[in-house]
Amino acid sequence: MAGAFWCVVEDDRKGRPKKVMSEVLGEATRLGGPAEALWLTDKATDEGLKQLGEWGATKIWLLEHAALAPYRGEVWVGAVAELAAEESPRAIFGPVTSRLRELLARLAARLGVGLAADAVAFAKDGDRLVATRPVYAGKLLSKLTWARSPWIATLRPNVFRPAEAQAGRTAPVERPGVKMPEAQMRFVERREEVSTGLPELTEAEIVLSGGRGMKGPENYVILEEMGAVIGAAVGASRAAVDAGWRPHRFQIGQTGRTISPKLYMGFGVSGAIQHLAGMRTSKVIVAVNKDSEAPIFKIADYGIVADLFEVVPELTKEFKRLLEK
Ligand SMILES: Cc1cc2nc3c(=O)[nH]c(=O)nc-3n(C[C@H](O)[C@H](O)[C@H](O)COP(=O)(O)OP(=O)(O)OC[C@H]3O[C@@H](n4cnc5c(N)ncnc54)[C@H](O)[C@@H]3O)c2cc1C
Repeated sequence: MAGAFWCVVEDDRKGRPKKVMSEVLGEATRLGGPAEALWLTDKATDEGLKQLGEWGATKIWLLEHAALAPYRGEVWVGAVAELAAEESPRAIFGPVTSRLRELLARLAARLGVGLAADAVAFAKDGDRLVATRPVYAGKLLSKLTWARSPWIATLRPNVFRPAEAQAGRTAPVERPGVKMPEAQMRFVERREEVSTGLPELTEAEIVLSGGRGMKGPENYVILEEMGAVIGAAVGASRAAVDAGWRPHRFQIGQTGRTISPKLYMGFGVSGAIQHLAGMRTSKVIVAVNKDSEAPIFKIADYGIVADLFEVVPELTKEFKRLLEK
């Protein structure tokens, strides 16, 4: 079957693709490609274009226009739909991020094709592609395929093997003349995200999650300190978010972010099913809880029954000692 695998680029809003794109491009290449990057931005950088080439993009479709920032679904979807109608890609992939989750759902509706949201695996079956995605809060895995192309899917970060970067590899850049649709929405207020200086929650290889057991917003500083030592993101349970201790963008779970880090460490998190829905695919799970009966211990690889306020400073001290060696 002809047609390329388009990989819609998630960037850092400063002209650099996020590292999760190496996973999306890597998977598109493994599925037979050709893997082509589709980058919508108000400002691309040479460094960003070079990075996409090194991650295996065989071509970069660059839609660079002032109307593309800040993100507005109706503008992006119109531009991508027009280009897809002209170029007939076989598949359109993107990582699970706030923007691309919305964009690709809108695009699937606009093109009248199926969407595999939050895919965790793909397999080729002759000319078909079969996607695996968790359902029922991660309790079951379902397999699905598409009645027709383009096969649209969002890929869960930290699940797919990243492409091996090939230094110096470049990709031709094509700037298609796509009409920018009129924005239906006007921004009346914008709030900039305050950077924590720690990795982004859905991309981080290590995530420290604080629950109601943290007792108050002021205590998250001990998790941030540990995060700074080991390069971890700090997330939270819904109980902590509902209490106003952390903003919603840090919430892990069914109504928050889904994460799949190499290491998840829960502190004062009981392990409610809705929390597990967002982190149960973590590779190694560590739980620290005062209550030995807490449900999180049922899925934890390592558990410490103890007061987190004693454990966290000790762990931070030990991590520092080990990493300073
Ligand atoms: C529709 C719906 C959607 C939901 N979505 C989400 C979601 O996306 N994410 C989510 O997290 N929840 C979600 N929830 C809420 C979920 O059911 C739980 O209420 C929530 O996860 C509990 O958060 P918690 O574990 O921090 O708090 P608790 O369940 O109160 O647990 C706190 C834990 O901290 C331990 N603890 C207390 N002090 C210490 C200490 N000093 N040291 C060590 N341990 C200590 C306690 O033993 C306890 O196990 C949802 C619920 C519903 C109904």
